This record gives sequence, structure tokens and C-alpha cells, in this order.
Amino acid sequence: MLWAWWRRWRRAQVQSRCRIDAALWDEAVSRTRPAQYLNPVDRSRLRDLASLFLHEKSIECAGGLGLTEGMRVRIACEVCIPILNLDLDYYRDWYALIVYPGEFIARHEYHDEAGVVHQDAEARSGESWEIGPVIISWGDVLAELPGYSVIIHEMAHKLDLLDGAANGCPPLHPGMRRAEWTQVFSAAFGEMRRRVDAGEPVEMDEYALQDPGEFFAVASECFFSTPGVLNQEFPEVYEQLALYYRQRPG
Ligand SMILES: [Zn+2]
Repeated sequence: MLWAWWRRWRRAQVQSRCRIDAALWDEAVSRTRPAQYLNPVDRSRLRDLASLFLHEKSIECAGGLGLTEGMRVRIACEVCIPILNLDLDYYRDWYALIVYPGEFIARHEYHDEAGVVHQDAEARSGESWEIGPVIISWGDVLAELPGYSVIIHEMAHKLDLLDGAANGCPPLHPGMRRAEWTQVFSAAFGEMRRRVDAGEPVEMDEYALQDPGEFFAVASECFFSTPGVLNQEFPEVYEQLALYYRQRPG
């Protein structure tokens, strides 16, 4: 109880002392597509949350990228959108967000069934480690394609990982039913698979069909970036995401 009070007090102090500069904030908001759906009160709350994020987490550059304050604010703005009505605690268990200038090569080691160690290398625009940092490509942040957001995609993976498995179902709030979530997402996954196989148009990125974890991450991108499209294509998915994120964009 005392701990919770102290933490709230400390956060209020940080937010008033380290509030993001108004001009940088306005610039970031104008360039962040999902922020366009927020009313002025919510944008102000987002600014507080992003200020806290920049104070508590570390944004680091890699691959020769120079990171300006404007870039840090732009990233923090979008990073905090999914947790605007949740809490910064939802991003516990990780500290650093690493930014590459463009796609980066992710190298992974894995053991096959015979115990032999293999290495693979793949170009990626974003990556979230189960424990550890989030990595994103700045070029993809700037892409601004409708329905696409590398930042929200990776944040959705981090939220999904809060119960230890990126299986497309983050820990749900009281009153939400896991059976309903699973049924809604499985049906949408199956429907999207059918449409893609039949050559029918689908608005959502086909990368969603990799597995349920990717479906949740891609659906989250659409939910915040092109909510009207998601609500039209998969209204029940929109509804579950609205309950989870406690927001109704669009
Ligand atoms: Zn992913």
C-alpha cells in the first residue's frame, strides 16, 4: 500500500519535472498515425506516460544511427499508445529499446532433435526477445503505411510474453474470458487463411498467418493504425482488442 503510494508520488514528480517539450511532442504526435484517433485529453495523458517511459527506459542506437531527442520522443509516443489505459508496468521485464537505421540481421542459434547446433540469420524490421530488449528499424518507424506499425507490433509481442509464451493470448483482465478470446482469434485466423488461399482480398498483412502470436501482433497494428478496417473485417477481434487495450480507436 505504502509502496504503491510512493510509486505514484514519484511518477507524478517525474512527469511534472521531465515532461516532454511541447514542440517536440506536437511534432511526434503529428507523425504518429495511431495518435490521430486520440482526443486532446488522451493525447495529454499520452504525453505524461511517454515522459515517464523516457525516464524509466533506455532508447539506444545501433548500426551507426544517430539518435536525436525528436526521434526518442517520436518512438516513446507510439510505444505508449497500447498501454495508455493500462500502465507502464505492462512493460516490466525489459529495459532497453534498440534502434537500427534500417532492417537488421537477426542471428539465432537453435538445437535440432539430434542435439546439433544450427545458426540462422534473417533480415528483420523488429524483434522482441522473450527476456531482454526490443529491437526496431527506424526506417520502418518512418514507413507510415496504413495498418503497419513496427513499434506496436513489437509492443504487442511484449504484452503477449507477460505470461511467458508468445501464443497470441496475453494475460487477460478480470471479466474477460480466455475461451472467448481463443474462439474469436482462431475463427478469424481460419477465415483469413481461407481468404488468402482462395485469392480473395484481405486488408491485414498476411504475415499474421505465421502463427497465433503474429496474428495478435498484426491485428494490434491494425487496431491502432487502421481501426475502421479491422472493425469491418474482423469485428469480434476488434471487440476483444478493445476490451484488452481498454481503448476504442476509430
Ligand atoms: Zn512479430
